[in-house]
Amino acid sequence: TVILGIESSCDETSASICIDGKIKSNIIANQLVHAKYGGVVPEAASRAHQQNIIPTVHEAIKQANIAKEDISAVAFTRGPGLLGSLLVGTSFAKSFALARQIPLLDINHMQAHILAHFIEDPQPQFPFLCLTVSGGHTQIVLVKDYFEMELIGETLDDAAGEAFDKTAKILGLPYPGGPLIDKYAATGNARAFALPEPQIAGLNFSFSGLKTAILYLVQREMRQDPEFLNTRMADLCASVQERIVSILLNKLKKAVQQTGVRQIAIAGGVSANSGLRTQLLGLGKQLRAEVFIPKFEYCTDNAAMIAIAGYHKFQKGEFVGQDITPVARMAVG
Ligand code: ATP
Ligand code: MG
Ligand code: FE
Repeated sequence: TVILGIESSCDETSASICIDGKIKSNIIANQLVHAKYGGVVPEAASRAHQQNIIPTVHEAIKQANIAKEDISAVAFTRGPGLLGSLLVGTSFAKSFALARQIPLLDINHMQAHILAHFIEDPQPQFPFLCLTVSGGHTQIVLVKDYFEMELIGETLDDAAGEAFDKTAKILGLPYPGGPLIDKYAATGNARAFALPEPQIAGLNFSFSGLKTAILYLVQREMRQDPEFLNTRMADLCASVQERIVSILLNKLKKAVQQTGVRQIAIAGGVSANSGLRTQLLGLGKQLRAEVFIPKFEYCTDNAAMIAIAGYHKFQKGEFVGQDITPVARMAVG
């Protein structure tokens, strides 16, 4: 079975080939146009997807060493995401499937972030807990089967990736700031600045208070010392990262205690964060839980996760017709 996976939910255009459950190529075209605006501009994103989609698919087919005639089915991200961006991938997938007379598989982007754990070994067994942390979502998901997931906690305001990116903006760092905060944090003192931990009941998260606390802290310090950001960047980033990670992991720990499930995974762009990766390993030891961390390239948006999800959906024979349309909002469960 050869699956062509297509991802276009946000600002990465990606195509991947999966043969019998093994990823053979994963091509990602990043859109650099958004950096100067400090965030993703939806209209610019759809235009860039239109330009990138054909060359990206060509390259994925070429690197996998196959011909387009070999492809058995097309899997594409149906949602959630930016509607204009999703439309490009969906329309491409539908046309390709129609032209080749092959089946179509619609994939939920948030499920795919989790299913990235089935690309390589070691793979978790059902049920497992997954903390999905990305640019638009922060969720704790009880994963019962490939396409049977239960949302047990989520953010009430900003996503973890947004918390990183908005904080980075306050610190004067370019978009997306998450990876830069990670980089500066490596040489900083995580205890340099005290930042609040929100008191939210249950397994839900909140990050908006943290953002405000950082804004006030920076404004206060800048009045005393205009060089504050230059001299204390590493300490600021380390403190911010430490707090975001502790908010995430305290809830994940609670989820393990509540469910008794002892396999914990992370997914989504923020799972590339080195502080989160290290501290998750520590939490695993503490809770005697098995920890699953995806490879970097399968954390942020990529089509390999769409192709692997497509492979498992293909086994179930759950195809969709040409009348399928993308949806901007879509629940994981
Ligand atoms: P969603 O999946 O919710 O629709 P998205 O697809 O935009 O959102 P991803 O591509 O999965 O999200 O992740 C992007 C986010 O990951 C950005 O907010 C980015 O700052 C963050 N990120 C990437 N690398 C790191 C890192 N090393 N440390 C912290 N954050 C990071
Ligand atoms: Mg992205
Ligand atoms: Fe994503």
